[in-house]
Amino acid sequence: MTELRVGVIGGGQLARMMTPPAINLGINIKVLAEAPGSSAALATTMVGDYTQVEVVREFAKSVDVITFDHEHVPLTVLRQLEAEGVSVQPPSKALAFAQNKLEMRTRLGELGLPMPHWAEIHDAGSLELFIAEHGGVAILKTPIGGYDGKGVRVVRSASDAADWLSEEGLAKVGGHLLAEEKVDFVRELAQLSARNVSGDFQAWPLVQTVQDNGVCSEVLAPAPGASQATLVEAARIARLVSEGLGVTGVLAVEMFETADGRLLINELAMRPHNSGHFSIEGSVTSQFEQHLRAVLDLPLGSAESTAPHAVMVNLLGVDQTNDFLPHYQEAMLAHPTAKIHTYGKGARQGRKMGHVTVIGNDAEAALTEARQAAMVLRQDF
Ligand code: ADP
Repeated sequence: MTELRVGVIGGGQLARMMTPPAINLGINIKVLAEAPGSSAALATTMVGDYTQVEVVREFAKSVDVITFDHEHVPLTVLRQLEAEGVSVQPPSKALAFAQNKLEMRTRLGELGLPMPHWAEIHDAGSLELFIAEHGGVAILKTPIGGYDGKGVRVVRSASDAADWLSEEGLAKVGGHLLAEEKVDFVRELAQLSARNVSGDFQAWPLVQTVQDNGVCSEVLAPAPGASQATLVEAARIARLVSEGLGVTGVLAVEMFETADGRLLINELAMRPHNSGHFSIEGSVTSQFEQHLRAVLDLPLGSAESTAPHAVMVNLLGVDQTNDFLPHYQEAMLAHPTAKIHTYGKGARQGRKMGHVTVIGNDAEAALTEARQAAMVLRQDF
């Protein structure tokens, strides 16, 4: 019997949410998880250290293609496997740009894509100069290893980042930091798209993302009030990034919208992304199904919407004991149109532990319904 086998490295919620479409399509999905009892435990077939080439090689033997739930697998490991003939999607040459923000900025610059002014910082002097040239403030980022706002700091002088600029601090992040102008944006947007191995491309509608303490809390699809020109520009940017960086699978391009209507690229993610969870109910093809299709080089599905509006509200952990399941009864009774997703993760304040999506004809009504369902589940009124 013919088999389609996908191996996902990382056992988080993204791997977990790839499982239902894999089942529907009869795709044999396997997960290499960091530890037993991961979010993707239902599909976990191996537990091991993804930084060890022997571990990943062993895992790769059981699948046709390797893909990811996160971007942290060392490039050396992936290059080695690629040299041995393993299909890695997205390939290491693309992932290099997702793993290192300085390399990403350099490549986007070569492609002429819009982004904040930036500079490579290697000492206090170069940071002071950048701050002085950009109105007395800068956003300083560690080029590797940051997520959910960790590794991002607003700085007004080099002393605000003395720890990062120390010899030890710099050594941890590869010797350099990334400074960016502090963009005075009106809102944050994300353009989700997918590209299969043969190069076919599909984009979902542009969405607005709302952050709370550096963590995404809500997503509105489509982005309210976005002009036709903005929609076209966002899709153009996504396509150029996807093709220019050689991305396969789902790509999320996080952007800032400025008061004068410009879009500036902030971040890239080369995998299904929080900004695309709405697509499970809100699109003909969800980001998780599309990712599987893309990495297996199957034709892509339609990314059209199933309703005029989709709203997603993250279930962020309230505290260590926070558990949503005891409140299903109440939430489901009061909010029957809310689609509840929980990730089976241990509770921690601010942690992404699940989400709620509501689709409908009225954006305001959908947002209210999703927020209220989330409040009941989190018991945070
Ligand atoms: P992470 O990799 O941790 O998600 P990001 O680069 O996305 O980090 O930054 C986190 C948040 O910090 C962004 O969502 C945005 O609100 C803010 N931010 C990042 N870069 C800039 C910038 N150049 N100007 C203004 N705000 C920024």
